[in-house]
Amino acid sequence: MNTRFGASRLTLLYMLAAGLWVLLSDGLLASLGLTLAQFERLQSLKGLLFVLLSGALLYGLLRAQQHRLTRTSRDLGASEDSLRQAAAVFEATQEGVLVTDAEQRIVHVNPAFSRITGYSAEEVLGREPSLLKSGRHDTAFYRGLWEALQRHGSWSGEVWNRRKSGEIYPQWHCIRAIHDAQGRIGHYVAVFSDISALKRSERELDQLAHYDPLSALPNRRLFSERLAHAFDRARRGQSQGAVLLIDLDHFKHINESLGHNVGDLLLRAVGERFAAQLGDDMTLARLGGDEFGLLCERCPAPDQATGLAQRLLHSLASPFLLAGHELYIGASIGISLFPEAIDDVEQVLRNADSALFKAKSNGREGFAFYDQGLTEYARQRVELVGALRQALDGDQLRLHYQPLHELHDGRLLGVEALVRWQHPQRGLVPPAEFIPIAEDSGLIGAIDAWVLERACRQMVAWQASGVALRFVAVNVSSRLFGRGELDRQVTRVLAETGLDPACLELEVTESAVMEDPDAAQERLERLRRLGVGLAIDDFGTGYSSLARLKRLPVHKLKLDQSFVRGLPHDGDDAAISRAVIALGHSLGLQVVAEGIEQPEQAEFLRRLGCDYGQGYHFGRPVAAEQIGSAPAARARPGEPQPQPQEVL
Ligand code: C2E
Ligand code: MG
Ligand code: MG
Repeated sequence: MNTRFGASRLTLLYMLAAGLWVLLSDGLLASLGLTLAQFERLQSLKGLLFVLLSGALLYGLLRAQQHRLTRTSRDLGASEDSLRQAAAVFEATQEGVLVTDAEQRIVHVNPAFSRITGYSAEEVLGREPSLLKSGRHDTAFYRGLWEALQRHGSWSGEVWNRRKSGEIYPQWHCIRAIHDAQGRIGHYVAVFSDISALKRSERELDQLAHYDPLSALPNRRLFSERLAHAFDRARRGQSQGAVLLIDLDHFKHINESLGHNVGDLLLRAVGERFAAQLGDDMTLARLGGDEFGLLCERCPAPDQATGLAQRLLHSLASPFLLAGHELYIGASIGISLFPEAIDDVEQVLRNADSALFKAKSNGREGFAFYDQGLTEYARQRVELVGALRQALDGDQLRLHYQPLHELHDGRLLGVEALVRWQHPQRGLVPPAEFIPIAEDSGLIGAIDAWVLERACRQMVAWQASGVALRFVAVNVSSRLFGRGELDRQVTRVLAETGLDPACLELEVTESAVMEDPDAAQERLERLRRLGVGLAIDDFGTGYSSLARLKRLPVHKLKLDQSFVRGLPHDGDDAAISRAVIALGHSLGLQVVAEGIEQPEQAEFLRRLGCDYGQGYHFGRPVAAEQIGSAPAARARPGEPQPQPQEVL
């Protein structure tokens, strides 16, 4: 368009100049007063000059035009060359290339694209790149990608896509938006390479550096790295952990007598048995030779480490059948808890090592804590669990019953069943000494089931023999309550014993309820629907929220005995007792005071309006036969009665 405009302007200019030349030169010649001959000569000269000038002008213009044409054809040749080169690169490159239009429809792919994805060009042209999606990335990932493309015009990163075969693979992806002359996005070009081989070798390298090739367990290096992390976290006060060093006893003999191949098989099999005992947050490593390490990142109490050590030792109890041999192997375990006054992570391992030495010198096939006191404590606990298991099997548990009285007239109302252990050597063991151990070791489920059934049967027996009791109360351990199957168990026991649900009361501690208040509320509602009574035990010690308490479907609050102990003189205890009684009544609940030992306490509580009382003043926990015969029903507040003595 510019050239055309220039050409017409030039022509006009030329015509104007030529016209002026003709007019002015003729006028000039006429005004000179020349002779005809002179005039004619000058006229011819003027004509010749005109031709000369026009010719020169024409020559100049044609030369310029020719130059331009030569330059343009040279430029055209060069861009054709570069197009040819680009096409060759596009075809030959190892990277997959995919071009879409602005609407993200594929308009071009190269052979490498087909090689990597398995799709031919015909299969994908006109379709959207989303057909390659693996489903591994969420929408937030793609949103980020598109935002970067809009904002910066390009994006690069790792993408997991799916080949036509269905295989999911990682690729490194660069996408660019291509703008047209008006600045609008016209195309997107994506260039990608398959990095699965790279990833594989990365993994292999990591495997070699961090895992033991024989057992496929983490090696010492990975173990130390994880321990360092766990130690840091523990020191920042977020957790407590334990390291267990496990050394196989007499492994050398197996290597020497049966050869290294059998030894290797055994190490692998031991690793598998150990691994089967562990939770997700633990790291089991083979530290070298016949030594394994176990890192337990969450180990809030020594008992858990004890339990873990026992499980590991127990897992070796049955023989290994390897290469036609039946092999037995034991182990010794050293335990170090951290952070526990430990300065650096190396010390955790050193302590575990000393503990391991101690375990070995204690006669192998056992475990030891770095701290001697803990080892002794753990040993006693282990013995106790074993003995308790025997107690359950050997019928050594007993139920005693403690009366609950009306405070205003002293009438016997019901009894609370309290378990005891008739130990062959130690005599009658109180529940405080074995219930926590039973909870830790899981034996509590069996104990609670036994108590529930025995108490219900006893109540039916009392009713049959005319003992006037309104209910029997049974304590429910937080463990059993937390499992949430209590309603089914209660339904079964009621059906089996034939006890009226209204004659059974379940006591759940305030802390068990507050562990998970929502779940507790739902469980209590299920129990209430069965028709049994519900009481919150040890009330005042568990930080109940009032709002929560209001919604709990319970009938009774049992004021914890620690608040009764100081009555009537201790001002704090008096204030708390008064508040709990008022609170209970305002929520429509009955209040029982526990641990009443003195007549003044009973009288004081009665005056505060407390409904019921329980404690040595009214009667100690006694065997079932003594309940039927005791003159308990005649008791009055302030009138202690002759007591059958419970020896604990
Ligand atoms: P608890 O349910 O609060 O039981 C009341 C405890 O206070 C009983 O202790 C009882 O003997 C004691 N006690 C009653 N009156 C007095 C008193 O006047 N003065 C003093 N100092 N103590 C008094 P016990 O039998 O040793 O039971 C302790 C805890 O063990 C119970 O507290 C209960 O939480 C638990 N427990 C007892 N039996 C069972 C059971 O069968 N299953 C479960 N899961 N826990 C039980
Ligand atoms: Mg109780
Ligand atoms: Mg209590």
